[in-house]
This record gives sequence, C-alpha cells and structure tokens, in this order.
Amino acid sequence: MKRLAILGSTGSIGTQALEVVESHPDLFEIEILTAHSNAETLIAQAIKFKPNAVVITDVSKYELVKKALESTTIKVFGGEEALIEVVRWDTVDMVLGAIVGFAGLKSIYAAVDAGKTIALANKETLVVAGDLVMKRAAETGARIIPVDSEHSAIFQCLVGEYIENVEKVILTASGGPFRGKKPNFLVNVKASHALQHPNWNMGAKITIDSATLMNKGLEMIEAKWLFGLKNEQIDVIVHQQSAIHSFVQFIDGSLKAQVGIPDMKLPIQYAIAYPRRIRNSFKRFDFKDFGQLTFEEPDYKTFRNLALAKEAMNIGGNAPCVLNAANEITVQAFLQNKVDFLEMSDIIEKTMAKVVPIVSPTMEDYEQSDKEARLYAQELVKKSPLATH
Ligand code: NAD
Ligand code: MG
Repeated sequence: MKRLAILGSTGSIGTQALEVVESHPDLFEIEILTAHSNAETLIAQAIKFKPNAVVITDVSKYELVKKALESTTIKVFGGEEALIEVVRWDTVDMVLGAIVGFAGLKSIYAAVDAGKTIALANKETLVVAGDLVMKRAAETGARIIPVDSEHSAIFQCLVGEYIENVEKVILTASGGPFRGKKPNFLVNVKASHALQHPNWNMGAKITIDSATLMNKGLEMIEAKWLFGLKNEQIDVIVHQQSAIHSFVQFIDGSLKAQVGIPDMKLPIQYAIAYPRRIRNSFKRFDFKDFGQLTFEEPDYKTFRNLALAKEAMNIGGNAPCVLNAANEITVQAFLQNKVDFLEMSDIIEKTMAKVVPIVSPTMEDYEQSDKEARLYAQELVKKSPLATH
C-alpha cells in the first residue's frame, strides 16, 4: 500500500490521479488531498477517498470545508503553510505535485527536504528553482519521478541506460491549436480558441502555454534539471499527432522513443506506481488511428515564448524564474482578455530585461525575483490597449 498526498487534487492532473487510485484500491491509499479554492470538489473527494487530512489553501473557504467534514474524522487545515507541514508527515509515502504554477514550489521543496518520493507534474517548481530542488534532493535522497508526458517518456527510455551515454533528448510538441499560423492570425485569437487543444484536455494555464509553445520551453528547463543535462543536449521537434511522447538519442546514434495515445492517466499511473508497472484497461494505441506521424521544426520566430524560454535557460540564474512569473501574469491576463496573444511575449521579454539578474539565487532570491517580475508584468498588462479599452 502506497499512501499518497495529492497536492492540487481538484485539478486536471489531480482528478485523473484519483481515477487511477480508484481503479487500484489494493495499491494506493489517500493520505492527503489539497485544493486552493474549489471547496465543493475537495469535500466530495474527501468523503469518497477518506484521507487522513485535507488542506484548503484559500482560507476564506476553510469554514465551509471544516463544517462539511465535521461528522468525519478527517482533519481539515487552511492556508498555504499547512501544505508545507502535511507533506512531511511520516504517514506520507509519496507526494504527487499537481498544483499549477509557482504556488507549487514551497510544498514540493518541503517534500524534497523531508526526503519523500515525489511524482512531479508541477513543472514550474523545476523551472523556477531546479538547481536548489535537485541539490536538496541529492542530499536527502528524495526521488523525483516525472509526470509530464515528455519527461515520463524520457525517464522510461532511460531505464537500464547510463546517463553518460545520452547524447541528447528530443522533446516532442504537438504545436498546439495554432500550429502553422503566423502573427497576422495570432493577433486576433481569443482565449476561448486557445483553450481548445487538439490532443490534450488540461487545466487552463497549461493549455494556453501549449498554444504559445511556452509549455515546451518550460519543459526544456524541466528536462535540464530532472536529467542533469546540458542546455545544448535538449531539442524540440513538433510532432502534431502526440503519439511519440519524446525521444532519447544515445552516443551511438541510436534513438529510443516512448509511444502511446495522448492520455495523462498513463504517465500519472507510471509515476505513482513506479517502479511497478500495473495492468489497466486504458484504450490501447491503434495504428489505424495514426496513419502518419509527422515532424517539423518549431517556428521560434512566430512562437516567441519558446525562444524566450530557451534564452532564459541559457542565461540561467533567476532568468527562468522571472520568465515563469511574467508568463503566469500574462496567461492570466490573456484568459481575461486583457492582453492579446502576441503581447504575452512582449511583456515577458520586457520583464526579463527589467528584473536584475542573479547568478546563483537562494530560495529567498527566487521569491523576491518572482514578486518583482509579477509586479512589473502586471504594470505592463495595465498598459495594454486591451486593458485600457
Ligand atoms: P489545474 O488548473 O487543472 O489544477 C491546479 C490545481 O492546483 C487545483 O487543484 C488547484 O486547486 C490547485 N491550485 C491552484 N492554485 C493554487 C495555489 N495558489 N495554492 C495551492 N493550490 C493551488 O492544473 P493542471 O492542468 O492539473 O496542472 C497542474 C500541473 O501539472 C501544472 O504545473 C501543469 O503544468 C502540470 N501538467 C499538467 C498536465 C495536464 O494534462 N493537465 C500535463 C503535464 C503537466
Ligand atoms: Mg508535457
């Protein structure tokens, strides 16, 4: 029995993880569930899975959750600090990090600090502070198993291999809903359109990141830290069908790939069950559904967010943290129709130029850079013609 803490259990990854858990009651037990503000879903999940504790980080919802679970033995905590406490509990065998954005960093770092095994979906944690997280993990023996489908693919390709024998990894990108489009088209796209991803059904933030290709940029940085790679060992190829979830190329030129239908339940299950593989009834890959697999270079000129992320990775230090913060602000603004699709890159670029670079940031530096970048990006959002309209 593995006892799981699912951070962000009400989200896209969180709810799919609970579906996996529900199919294997002999293997998994829920110890902790957490949500930010979706109290109704958290309460329903708690009644169904009977965790030891739940955390609602939006304190204005605490009383509601507390009252609803009054007649149970489930402990109810409110606020961000509680997350950092519960992940350290002895009763937690594995932490699934499924919070979105910078908000997921502190609790994952606490889990790493406590030497836990972590199934990591929250890529922003590694984008912002991958150096500190991996360093601490090496010290405490914490293990990080990727949930992100590309990184799960690479992880699976590396089973039985020596990391020194890796020449490079090639992350596949679907290209999102606007693959092949140019700026004259993109300037007019609305959030409702960008939210329609052709291959994956995900939370709003990552869906917009997929449309701008920022998601692939964040994933390059995620791969760098997870697998200890040099920047030049990380490539991206657009593969529209999302059948191949990524490649590893070895020093003899041999390529390994992991293939499957695009369904996050598979990498989620792989990560939480690791090192076991468990039988399931997921839809199987059918070659008739994938008559053709295509590959093309990403359009870095049109999808500038990908170029900016690569640049941030190459600069290092606090640059990826600043990129991430500006991106979180612009995605939120785009979802609220306050900036257009192309302005997102402008704001991120200007924010990267504005925030003072730090070569070897501490955790406090990262927190400070994140705050500064958010404030500045927010100022730029306010200046957008759309926001002032
Ligand atoms: P989501 O928006 O559907 O869910 C986010 C979860 O985090 C919710 O449970 C929410 O309550 C919680 N949350 C939000 N803000 C919070 C805060 N300030 N404090 C505490 N909790 C907070 O997001 P998602 O699509 O499930 O993505 C989660 C993470 O997994 C992201 O980092 C994303 O990049 C990554 N990921 C997602 C997918 C996918 O298919 N959805 C695939 C690969 C990677
Ligand atoms: Mg991915």
